[in-house]
Amino acid sequence: MSYFNLAIDGPAGAGKSTIAKRIAKKLGFVYVDTGAMYRAMALYFLRNNISSSDSEGIEKACGKVDVTIEYKNGEQLVILNGENVNGLIRTEEVGNMASTSSVNKSVRNKLVELQQTLAKKENVVMDGRDIGTFVLPNADLKIYLTASSHVRARRRWLELQSKGIAADQEEIEQDIIDRDNRDMNREFAPLRQAEDAIYLDSSDLSIDEVIGKIISLYENVNK
Ligand code: C5P
Repeated sequence: MSYFNLAIDGPAGAGKSTIAKRIAKKLGFVYVDTGAMYRAMALYFLRNNISSSDSEGIEKACGKVDVTIEYKNGEQLVILNGENVNGLIRTEEVGNMASTSSVNKSVRNKLVELQQTLAKKENVVMDGRDIGTFVLPNADLKIYLTASSHVRARRRWLELQSKGIAADQEEIEQDIIDRDNRDMNREFAPLRQAEDAIYLDSSDLSIDEVIGKIISLYENVNK
């Protein structure tokens, strides 16, 4: 039996995870958040004082780290060496480490294997940076979801505001631009739109509008 694989790629802050999660729920698919896996690896590097530029140390660590995924009440849990680290991977520190350490080929190879295995045994909505181009090149539907860096920074700023966290919108935008540059210019599996991916710019669309567009694309493919 083959399963439906829906790939959503795009830069940081484009709304991929919110949208992918809701689409998965609507379709009864499993949501696979690949960024969370890179974040779990990053947490390991931080805890063990391994710098993202220490490619030898990173490669060695990749042989020792065990990252797996479990699902509890529909939520993806990332398990790092037996520990559920979901509550520890959403900090700026871990995000920055994930962005810099994910350029390492050994980190990517390790996680890509896990992602491909998951997509072989379930209907999935998988989001990330290299899903349509590298992880699931034969995905049934590929979306490249983006928005301007200004809009992405504004959304992030509003999210922080709502949590009572003070932040500078210009600094957030610069950080987003730096992350985009790292993701798009790395040597191995960089972020780019797959040739057969559908480009969606969400700058002027609501979450519901984006979801509606993707669901209708899915229905067309699945006719
Ligand atoms: O999407 P999220 O911000 O959680 O991802 C954390 C980091 O992991 C990103 O900045 C990106 O560099 C990296 N990543 C990646 N490939 C993926 C998913 C995430 O390189 N498929």
